[in-house]
Amino acid sequence: MFTFLRSDLTHLQAYTSAHVTLDTLDRLDGNESHVDLPTELKQKLAWTYQEIIAANRYPDGGHAELKQAIATYVNTSAQSSPAQPSPAITPAQISVGNGSDELIRSLLIATCLGGNGSILVAEPTFSMYGILATTLGIPVCKIPRHQENWQMDLAAAAQVIQTQATTASPVRVVFVVHPNSPTANALTNQEIDWLRSLPEDILVVIDEAYFEFCQHSLVGELAEHSNWVILRTFSKAFRLAAHRVGYAIAHPQIIQALEKIRLPYNLPSFSQAAALIALQHYQDLLTSVSQILSDRQTLIAHFQQQPTLRVWQSQANFIYLRLAETFPDSKDHEQALTQIRQGMEDKGTLIRHTGGGLRITVGSTAENQRTVDRLTKVLAERTIVAG
Ligand SMILES: *Cc1c(COP(=O)(O)O)cnc(C)c1O
Repeated sequence: MFTFLRSDLTHLQAYTSAHVTLDTLDRLDGNESHVDLPTELKQKLAWTYQEIIAANRYPDGGHAELKQAIATYVNTSAQSSPAQPSPAITPAQISVGNGSDELIRSLLIATCLGGNGSILVAEPTFSMYGILATTLGIPVCKIPRHQENWQMDLAAAAQVIQTQATTASPVRVVFVVHPNSPTANALTNQEIDWLRSLPEDILVVIDEAYFEFCQHSLVGELAEHSNWVILRTFSKAFRLAAHRVGYAIAHPQIIQALEKIRLPYNLPSFSQAAALIALQHYQDLLTSVSQILSDRQTLIAHFQQQPTLRVWQSQANFIYLRLAETFPDSKDHEQALTQIRQGMEDKGTLIRHTGGGLRITVGSTAENQRTVDRLTKVLAERTIVAG
């Protein structure tokens, strides 16, 4: 009926996120932090709204103060990760988005829109690259990963780039996540070498959404690779998912392109204030990380005891599982995973079924205990049914 809508949108599935208002569910499907902001910081933010923010005025559309604070954080936090940026990152190398999702879309518009090229992703990976590309009519080239360690199939990647180069849709952008979602592995040295070797006419987007959990960043190499962009977000370790703030770090000319494309007032005043307060107190906020990392190892050890599961090590705040080859009724893993995810929800834990497996966020210690108990029960019930 609505013939004015583009036909290629018909088959596209919208990104689904659980819409939960009940606090009784353990929400371990979104990789957010399980800890809210400390009360003192919320009070500070409330005070800022009361006393500083003029609700009748547009926000600061230039984000100058926030960019400066982000640059300082990036330079300071890079001390251990493994190389510090030299020269230091400046605000001219930063663009701020309404979540890093907005920056992903802006990067796609800046590079591939209008039949200008395609993107390359290694599956399974963060689904938004493909979803946003498809909404813009941009072709998505997909390559696989090796299952042992989830390293990208680099031979396949090189092949795709070569083949596409002779078509009307050459690969303009390679998207990688470091560490990857949903598989939770960091880039290997071989993958990083491959990124270094890519020609300058390909944009390399390194999504470091989980940097604070893994502490390894490629920001120190930006000066040597002007075709690289690093994306970060406040939605995960910084506990600000509600506020939708992400940032890109790149060469000033790439940043200028992003600034042209974004909407003038893309970041509400309240969100800017929240990100600024979070950066002023980042050491306090990031104290939650070490507990999450140690709970993660406990969870992995529990999952490893389940003979029907296959579990991988994680460099982030979530764990990726698949069903073992020996899983009962193993002909249809996707259907089994759908049932397991639903079984977990019925018992009160939301997890994500994606990329041929299950992705489970590390929550509070109590939530994690319930995850183990409930998953054990769900798997046992299935085994009985299948057996
Ligand atoms: C969560 C996540 C993001 C963050 O997106 P926001 O829009 O900033 O909330 C970006 N990339 C990856 C890989 C993620 O997992």
